[in-house]
Amino acid sequence: MKKVKEIMNPSMLSRLVMALAIVLSLVAIFTVVLYRGGAKVSVNEPSECKTMVVVASGDTLGKLLIDQGLNNSDVNAIADALKKNAGISTLRADNDKFEFVRPDTDSPVSKIVLIPSPWKQVELTCSENGGWNCNTIEIERDTRAVYKTGEIKNGDSFYLAGIRAGIPAGILIDVYDLLAFEMDFERDVRAGQHFSVLYEENFSEGQKVDNGHVLAVQFEALRGNVKMYRFKKSDGTTGYYDENGNGAIKSLKRTPINNAKVTSNFSTSRKHPVLGFTRAHKGVDFRASTGTPIPAAGAGRVVARGFNRGHGNYVKIRHNGTFETLYAHMSRFAKGVGVGTAVKQGQTIGYVGSTGLSTGPHLHYEVIKDGVHVNPLTVKLPAISNLDDANKKKFLEYRKTLDNGIEHLAKNPNWFIQM
Ligand SMILES: [Zn+2]
Repeated sequence: MKKVKEIMNPSMLSRLVMALAIVLSLVAIFTVVLYRGGAKVSVNEPSECKTMVVVASGDTLGKLLIDQGLNNSDVNAIADALKKNAGISTLRADNDKFEFVRPDTDSPVSKIVLIPSPWKQVELTCSENGGWNCNTIEIERDTRAVYKTGEIKNGDSFYLAGIRAGIPAGILIDVYDLLAFEMDFERDVRAGQHFSVLYEENFSEGQKVDNGHVLAVQFEALRGNVKMYRFKKSDGTTGYYDENGNGAIKSLKRTPINNAKVTSNFSTSRKHPVLGFTRAHKGVDFRASTGTPIPAAGAGRVVARGFNRGHGNYVKIRHNGTFETLYAHMSRFAKGVGVGTAVKQGQTIGYVGSTGLSTGPHLHYEVIKDGVHVNPLTVKLPAISNLDDANKKKFLEYRKTLDNGIEHLAKNPNWFIQM
């Protein structure tokens, strides 16, 4: 056991690779790791007396401490110590816990432990001169990666299928966010689709405490199988990448046509060039010559394709439950693009023109978030992150190892990867 622990000290990636290497080669040890987890019992000093208090709504530090027999100068000293040494200046009701320790029932409090999270404890100890020393302790966490697979059944939502597969709600919400620009969970979910999630569970002394990150996700989407892997770059930042190491968090392109000049910005009031009076400009205009292909700003489904007096020929795409985009004044539509067509990011949906209320060829582009027009150039969108060559090489090795691990977990659903 000790040897296993020792090997697992370096960076997260190599730790994972090591743990996987153990999975792959030393099944016996791995199984031992699997069934480990006998909780250590903490032994109290025999005469020590402990009182546990959970912070309730309306509680203040002063009230809690005075209730335990401390005086005002203790309160001030403790408030100072918490702020200066632990960065804590407010208490969170129903979350933070205090443990008050007395040498025996009749003695004053000699130690206070503030527990703001399962992974952190702040110990305040009374010194000889009556002051309070503050010491923050990070709790060692034992992280395991577990693998769950599911299938969409008739009438299911992804959420229901996920819960049935034993995936915690919080992890499902993370998966929704990850796949939000890959698929429309309201409309693109069909019976028979399979999905899988590899995610972290955090343990302390053999007890599960909470869930960590989604490490890998796979979904048989209508537009093809989507796979994403969480990867830590050499600079320490993490992101999600597809099988080939390309940034996987798809987003909307703020400028669908590359390098096109903005000729009219988003505005809640502007003088309309054709109508002559002031009205809102609900999109951004990009100068481009007639016939320039217009790419879809993101993957999605065409929900409207038609003509109206203002927009001329236009296409509207629904990307997910939150975002829609609209492209106006087209000279013509792209072949095969109709209502209901699933489009990929960058796929040509039509061609620049000057139909509708327009003074010359340009693309009028709108982004609609939760039914409200927003400025495409400034709206907050998920970041697209790509890997440089060195990181990509590392990623591809990591992904291969992780896929091997997943293959083992798929055959042995009760196993986990020791991180
Ligand atoms: Zn416009």
